Amino acid sequence: MRVLTVLGNRPQSVKAAAVSRVLRARHEEVLVHTGQHFDDELSTIFERELGVPRPEIQLGLGGGTNTEQTAKQLAALGPLVAEQRPDVVLVYGDTNSTLTGGIAAAQAGIPVAHVEAGMRSWDWAMPEEQNRVLTDALSDLLLVPSRTAEDNLKREHPRGRIMYVGDVMVDVADLFRPRARENVAALERAGVRPGEFVVCTTHRAANVDDPARLRLLVDLLLAVPYPVVLPLHPRTRARLTAAGWLDELAGGVILSPPLGYLDFTALLVHAHAALTDSGGVQKEAFLARTRCVTLRDTTEWVETVDSGWNVLVDLDAARAIEALDRPLPGEHPQPYGDGHAAERVVDALDLLP
Ligand code: UDP
Repeated sequence: MRVLTVLGNRPQSVKAAAVSRVLRARHEEVLVHTGQHFDDELSTIFERELGVPRPEIQLGLGGGTNTEQTAKQLAALGPLVAEQRPDVVLVYGDTNSTLTGGIAAAQAGIPVAHVEAGMRSWDWAMPEEQNRVLTDALSDLLLVPSRTAEDNLKREHPRGRIMYVGDVMVDVADLFRPRARENVAALERAGVRPGEFVVCTTHRAANVDDPARLRLLVDLLLAVPYPVVLPLHPRTRARLTAAGWLDELAGGVILSPPLGYLDFTALLVHAHAALTDSGGVQKEAFLARTRCVTLRDTTEWVETVDSGWNVLVDLDAARAIEALDRPLPGEHPQPYGDGHAAERVVDALDLLP
């Protein structure tokens, strides 16, 4: 089988890292990276440490608004799909590249397999939520990471076939966690000690694009009573620079460029807590048994909240600070599978006509 995988950003590279290794043992894969957000360091790390191939095709289509990105990607992916003639197009998660990969395939009459299908925040204003719902509608195989995602889809009666596979990010996290624990050099580089700092990521449009919300975010981060290590996403850096608040923030938190996966995971497993608006980081904190405080008022990863490992505080500084010091829950359930999701994803492809 010839599989065309479309990626566009960092978390999708993490997810593809789990699947590509297993996939290439059985099928032919062509990895296409749209360039929505290409992280060369992450790509190198995965290549070196997991044997994950670098994308065979780089479209280099970064920048622009969501609509511009979607238009540019579609214009490039249409001819590419026609030329490559894959048996299936594989997409991950909820980015513009997920949606455009799905549309390009569906319009060419090629089956679409969606990994991380069925996730819902029920916040239609989120560009990611629109991408999820639309991609699920286009997909022939809806590969869900959790029973909640499965239930969400069953209520929507999609055209495609729903299959529970578990979360492919668990596969990667399980593989990396032991090495991340030993990687104290990452903490030394940040100048922090195990258990005594907070690791933060933030880049959601809803938090950084509106200056009033961005100001709340800056004030919240400056109020945290722990050293905060913040590997700064390019979008957040651009918004802070435009608002003139980057230096002020740099005076109160430990800023760094985006980190490679192994260094970031080292910080996550050794942190007192994670403070984030990222979907992936909420889940990775949960898997690492690190308490998480989420800078949003909704989440797709509801199990992390229901089990007490994650608390949603939006940009309320007082609630965030209180949540950072809450005791850890006694129980740690496993709603996202057993670390063998990638094998199930590849098995599921055999079910396509
Ligand atoms: N990540 C990373 N380096 C960093 C910050 C995050 O490797 O400096 C990884 C993180 O471990 C997770 C993914 O990037 O696997 C999350 O990406 P992001 O927050 O961009 O996306 P989201 O999950 O919100 O879609």
